[in-house]
Amino acid sequence: MKAITVEPGKPGSARFEEIPEPDVSNGSVLVEAIAVGVCGTDVEIVEGKYGWSPPGKQRLVLGHESLGRVVDPGRSRGLEKGDLVVGIVRRPDAVPCPNCAVGEWDMCRNGQYTERGIKEIDGYMSERWRIEPEYAMKVDPSLGLLGVLLEPTTVVAKAWEQVVAVGQRAFWTPRTMLVTGAGPIGLLAALVGKQQGLDVHVLDRVESGPKPELVRALGATYHSGRILDLGFEPDVIVECTGVGSVIADAIQKIGAGGIICLTGVGAGGAPSDYAVADVAAKVVLKNNVMVGSVNANKRHWYKAGEVLARADRKWLSRLITRREKPENFQRALERQPDDIKVVIQFSEA
Ligand SMILES: [Zn+2]
Repeated sequence: MKAITVEPGKPGSARFEEIPEPDVSNGSVLVEAIAVGVCGTDVEIVEGKYGWSPPGKQRLVLGHESLGRVVDPGRSRGLEKGDLVVGIVRRPDAVPCPNCAVGEWDMCRNGQYTERGIKEIDGYMSERWRIEPEYAMKVDPSLGLLGVLLEPTTVVAKAWEQVVAVGQRAFWTPRTMLVTGAGPIGLLAALVGKQQGLDVHVLDRVESGPKPELVRALGATYHSGRILDLGFEPDVIVECTGVGSVIADAIQKIGAGGIICLTGVGAGGAPSDYAVADVAAKVVLKNNVMVGSVNANKRHWYKAGEVLARADRKWLSRLITRREKPENFQRALERQPDDIKVVIQFSEA
């Protein structure tokens, strides 16, 4: 079969090539790939900046935002041939750490977890893949191709859970949510905020195109420009840019008792204009919490499935702005101005 593979750590090594059929050691359920979403992590792996191949192997099959159709359910009792499934990405570490031991692998403490398509296990960008039944999430069949949005939705399902967990330290009635960054994660965070009944605002740099349109179509308010210019103090900020100046402004603008959830992974940038002690004083005097959130465990995968199942299909479909064939994967990895989510499509949904 054909797969998109890469030699981690080696820029320009990605290729669409013939590889052996998926090994049964990767799971008893055999799945035919429908589509795989592309994200910044895939780009980093292809650029040689991230990623690890399976032990004893040189190359890694790329891809972690999967969608496929069950060809052979194997020993699984809950799956049938033809079911649409998405594969969970992370596996608990083998030690295991206390969090992995209780199935909260998203909170892994020793960093020895593995991840399909990223860290030591082959990913989902192959014509067929195998998965353990307990890591195969069935998606609402009416979602079709939109099931490929499940993995990014798990990120925001967990982020929202973190916000709620912090909020419950006190009497808490959040009304307003600001999302910074209108990429796929930001837009899905806005969707979750709307489903929770919040007054949702999304801020991004662009002034036109699909991002503002999608925000408005959701019934949320779009802003371009600086956070400091907003006419309100958000109860919740979901930060999806990873940009230092945006994060610094978010801390200035968050309301009393407000929570900032960081989901973006950035690097570098100019040092902040704010002195740390001044920032800390604000955080103290307003009881603010800033919480980082990464990855997702099975509970979040389940919740994300509910978020998508309840969402407007037409709106979701507008998030997938480009579909590329596997042989054109390089094109899928190149960012174009109006891209939101680009997927590599292996077969029809
Ligand atoms: Zn662990």
